[in-house]
Amino acid sequence: MKNSFLNKTICLVFALLPILISCKNKPTGTPPEGYRLQDTCYICPGTFAKAYHAYNDCAALRQCTKGIETTTIEDAIADGRRPCHKCY
Ligand SMILES: [Zn+2]
Repeated sequence: MKNSFLNKTICLVFALLPILISCKNKPTGTPPEGYRLQDTCYICPGTFAKAYHAYNDCAALRQCTKGIETTTIEDAIADGRRPCHKCY
């Protein structure tokens, strides 16, 4: 009796394991922790600027000479940008 309950529990754990692991392995194209794809972010439209920022007064954005653009994290990711390590 006890063993069959244990076996069921083990089976359940192994069935759930891939789901738990897939949650931990964040695929590329996900927003930084605590943020959503719909959240606003700030980008420098220059060719060499490949990050998106949480704050429009980020130190990295101050070097932007082309004007800061407001967009969403989703659009920034689609544009090939990554989260700024100073902001996120
Ligand atoms: Zn930044």
